[in-house]
Amino acid sequence: MSYPFRPANNQPFTFDGLIGHMRSVFKDLLDARTGSNTHYTMVDAALGGFSVFFTQSPSFLEFQRNMALAKGRSNASTLFKMTEIPSDNQIRNLLDPVPPKEFFPLFARIIDGLYDLDYLESYRSINGTLLVPMDGTQYFSSTKICCKNCTVKKPNKGKTNYSHTVVTPVIAAPGSHSVFPLEPEFVTPQDGHDKQDCENAAAKRWLTQFAPRYRDWRISILGDDLYCKQPVCEAILGEGMSFILVCKPDSHKTLYEWVAGLETSGGVETLSVTRRHGKQLETDTYRFVNRVPLRDGKDALEVNWCELTTRNASGEVIYKNAFATNHEITKDNVAEIVLAGRTRWKVENENNNTLKTKGYHLTHNFGHGKQNLSAVMATLNLLAFLTHTVLGLMDANYQLVRQKLVTRKTFFNDLRALTRYLCFDSWTALLLFMMRGLEIVPPDTS
Ligand SMILES: [Zn+2]
Repeated sequence: MSYPFRPANNQPFTFDGLIGHMRSVFKDLLDARTGSNTHYTMVDAALGGFSVFFTQSPSFLEFQRNMALAKGRSNASTLFKMTEIPSDNQIRNLLDPVPPKEFFPLFARIIDGLYDLDYLESYRSINGTLLVPMDGTQYFSSTKICCKNCTVKKPNKGKTNYSHTVVTPVIAAPGSHSVFPLEPEFVTPQDGHDKQDCENAAAKRWLTQFAPRYRDWRISILGDDLYCKQPVCEAILGEGMSFILVCKPDSHKTLYEWVAGLETSGGVETLSVTRRHGKQLETDTYRFVNRVPLRDGKDALEVNWCELTTRNASGEVIYKNAFATNHEITKDNVAEIVLAGRTRWKVENENNNTLKTKGYHLTHNFGHGKQNLSAVMATLNLLAFLTHTVLGLMDANYQLVRQKLVTRKTFFNDLRALTRYLCFDSWTALLLFMMRGLEIVPPDTS
């Protein structure tokens, strides 16, 4: 896949700039209409879908249609630069045939822009790599609604279940709350195979497709025990990337036998660090060994293994986990490797939970479609999340309003209400209105 686009300029992203990038990508979306009924543009359909996720308001377009009728203009045109507002049904029909990958150049533009502006440098971790946790999240499940891309499970008893899962890699860092979603990979049934596609296959497809884009940035892939299998590790190494993957004893018997054997001959190094956690003292004990086989057999991949056990002052174990990595482990870097490995929970907590629970309605059925609609909506949702993250970094007014309103929910409740009743000339005008109400002094931009 080629990406002919680079960020338009070296300026930080603004809301209007981001909408401009969207317009230029959306105008090339597949338009499957053949008849003369081509009144609405693909740009308006896609911007309409995006606006619902950006405002986190399922009724946003309905309100804007009413506003346009009453006042002759609406926030759909002033904020999102839509020319006309198609109906929800028209949006679904227009977007259903579009393969989700047609939206991916937007991820590339935004992430490349962040990289070129050096915003990702502070995210670098072990051996100067950027951490990319990968995790699959099921964003749709039903016993009634389905499409040709559904994963189908037929239990012996009970109803057939239809679902969609997406692997969502993000760039994350141990000390940062913001994560940046990269291009997603959808778990889909493979053509010509009875066997259902699985998450590992999707992860490998992502690597094949996107490693050429990201490998020069130096990447460590993070993932749970499910990914800690030789084919995935080899795929990651083969693409010139590193890995730090959860490595549990139950699923890695050979590796743990080696560790136990080396333990008896003093071949496992240990390191203990006592630190203060609030008023409590806690002790971290690291054990590590380099070059042990990941699995049984002659062709087993050699990996490096480390484990952290944290105990409280009474000696009770309060945390224990272990990781396999290709990074050489030393006493100097073992804590950093474990900290990096633990960052994989960020993709669950910051990205997937945010998408599922904090107003993004990823599991909400906006319309399933017959072909790609479900995946297109999930992609637009991830784009909205990425856009919010970028504005949180680069839009000083947005930062100030979000800080004052503390919770995400309050901000979006206010955004919903304001855009329902008032038409704002621009995104900046909307934020300045909120700042006046909240008695926030605008930042000095002189
Ligand atoms: Zn489906």
